[in-house]
Amino acid sequence: MIPRKPTDSATDRPSYDAQPKTLNSRPTVPVARAALVVAHPGHELCVHGWLEAARPLVFILTDGSGRSGKSRVASTTKILDAAGARPGPVYGRFPDPAIYKAIMGGEFALFVKSAEELAEALVLERIDYVVGDAREGYNPVHDACRLVIDAAVGLANRAGWQVKNFDFALIGRQDAYPSELREEAIWLRLDDQTFERKLTAMRAYPELADEVSLGLDAERLKILQTHGELLKDLEPVLEGLGAEAFRVECMRPAGSVGDGPGFSKSVPFYERYAEKLVAQGRYDSVIRYREHLRPLADALGQMS
Ligand SMILES: [Zn+2]
Repeated sequence: MIPRKPTDSATDRPSYDAQPKTLNSRPTVPVARAALVVAHPGHELCVHGWLEAARPLVFILTDGSGRSGKSRVASTTKILDAAGARPGPVYGRFPDPAIYKAIMGGEFALFVKSAEELAEALVLERIDYVVGDAREGYNPVHDACRLVIDAAVGLANRAGWQVKNFDFALIGRQDAYPSELREEAIWLRLDDQTFERKLTAMRAYPELADEVSLGLDAERLKILQTHGELLKDLEPVLEGLGAEAFRVECMRPAGSVGDGPGFSKSVPFYERYAEKLVAQGRYDSVIRYREHLRPLADALGQMS
């Protein structure tokens, strides 16, 4: 059950500053209580400057083990410790295959329960704003995580605790956010020291060493290289994606930019990608938006 609103009045809550001023090398005082909610360990690196500044409570759906079976949680815990952030009650809880199986099998209890737990923690910890994965059509678990976040925020709000809801791009470029919308976003341009710490953390994260960007694992890159038509879809995203692209961190009001780059065609990227792997005999089946993600969205939508 979601606890009711904390007893003190809303005016006692720390003020929310949508645009922190220039980040010092290591800001120490968060302007509000924050939570980070992501599908996989490693995503926190995408918003590492903000992580240091906001020191959020961190929720991670899976252990990031993927097909390798090796959990990434310990690597992420090191990042959080160094940044002063702390793990929340849902933290690398599910192995990736369990999540895929649940999505494919329509076993949504796991997601419903996670949303309830998240909502409860948001209220108990008096979280003012949540930052989490955007729905990009690139990876079904990222998109499922976004659905869980939205449901949890809805539940917390229904319980009388107002929580703001932000997303950030994992595949899409964070520096591409329209300047006219930045007033509403948490938009950081990291100073040199903060940026250097971020790059060092990214380089030191062993499971991500081969990736050009956090969402692109080595296997995925190989497939893209042999299937030009898929690579083409992501070209606008990957173009010019050097280290400097990671200097800007942009957390947008959730859903404010519509579908992510993976939805550039009517079928999301993750479906077309999985179809290739099924054709190669490497995957057994394809997670599809209409068959799998939309029913999950419906189930979670009914919660709040
Ligand atoms: Zn991921």
